[in-house]
Amino acid sequence: MHESNLPIQPVPESHLSFDDLGLTPELRTAVAELGWQKPTPIQAAVIPPALEGHDLIGLAETGSGKTAAFGLPIVQRLPADQKVRALVLSPTREITLQTKGFLDYFGASRRLRAVALIGGLNIRHQMDTLAKKPQIVVATPGRLLDHLERGTVRLDAVSELVLDEGDHMLDLGFMPQIHRILERLPAERHTMMFSATMPPPIERLAQRFLSDPLRLDVTPKGKAASGISHRLYLVDIDNKRPCILSLLNRELGSTLVFTRRKVDAEWLSRVLAREGHRVERIHSDLTQAQRLQALDGFREGKHRILVATDVAARGLDIPAIEHVVNYDIPDSVDDYVHRAGRTARGDAEGVVSTIATFLDKPLIKELEATLGFELPRCTTLGVEPYVERKPPRRMGRRFR
Ligand code: AMP
Repeated sequence: MHESNLPIQPVPESHLSFDDLGLTPELRTAVAELGWQKPTPIQAAVIPPALEGHDLIGLAETGSGKTAAFGLPIVQRLPADQKVRALVLSPTREITLQTKGFLDYFGASRRLRAVALIGGLNIRHQMDTLAKKPQIVVATPGRLLDHLERGTVRLDAVSELVLDEGDHMLDLGFMPQIHRILERLPAERHTMMFSATMPPPIERLAQRFLSDPLRLDVTPKGKAASGISHRLYLVDIDNKRPCILSLLNRELGSTLVFTRRKVDAEWLSRVLAREGHRVERIHSDLTQAQRLQALDGFREGKHRILVATDVAARGLDIPAIEHVVNYDIPDSVDDYVHRAGRTARGDAEGVVSTIATFLDKPLIKELEATLGFELPRCTTLGVEPYVERKPPRRMGRRFR
């Protein structure tokens, strides 16, 4: 597969090691070659019971590392014969392709192969790939039904089923197709479902198609109440810039970036523009007309990113920001709360990413004491976390 299918993304880490989860040495090596140092919370929670064959519901968000949470156990449990033994249903073509990429990679040591069945791609080509007897099917529900109705795929030997991003599939209107597909699967099987939330139709799906499932909730603390997911990236000063570039590629929604000084807002917006981002900036050295223009462009979606200083951002009414990035940690807890309040308005959910260096540690402590929870430490591949003063990690070159 092409390396861009395995994006660099920030993930929170757990305290466990990949050696503690019951994975085979081959899979531990495969994980190490990706440069992953520790399992994410969802991986630590899901992998051991999944390896034992428990049905489970993983409450986790996109980007939490859940593909490997289900992918590693599937690959370890699957017989390597000539039948379709595992089915992963996912909402979008991008997620399907990314999942297929991970399953091919993890399955390579056991000669397991995955096929992606998604709309918009030539169905004949998919039939040819199916004729080569892959053991794993990753599919969007509509295209899979199409294949089932044509008789080009058989699911009667499936022993591992994953429903990925259940709530997202619900939002996209896939529930009727999912029910029709699941009715055709063998009753005797291992099923895992992942969803960030559990609205009633998802609960019903779980009750009908999962057997006495474990519920593993790893949605970040502090999120449930406010709809905000807080993330902290501790890096060296020189790594602040690579860190923000990586975060902006990871979170694709509208983003408000805060810098402490006007000159930095100016500088950073130029850096981001050079990287091809649609970006504007506001600070108090600009005229009112310039500020309004920047703001309108942001509101209308012409610019995805707005770089701002606290003073300039005060009192702005900016609806529906998905991501707030503290490029510089705010001077006070009040400012943090104020910045964070820019996202997750109403029922919306949002992410607040704070990039910090060792110099910011006293403020982080104060922040955490006031917020009443620890800001989840996150890492983003390609940017060495500050605390980890270890020798450079071995990275699988293809997957950088
Ligand atoms: P997912 O939620 O499965 O889409 O994963 C999000 C991203 O996190 C992927 O791009 C993975 O490369 C990365 N990732 C998953 N698990 C880990 C880990 N244990 N350590 C570092 N990165 C990870």
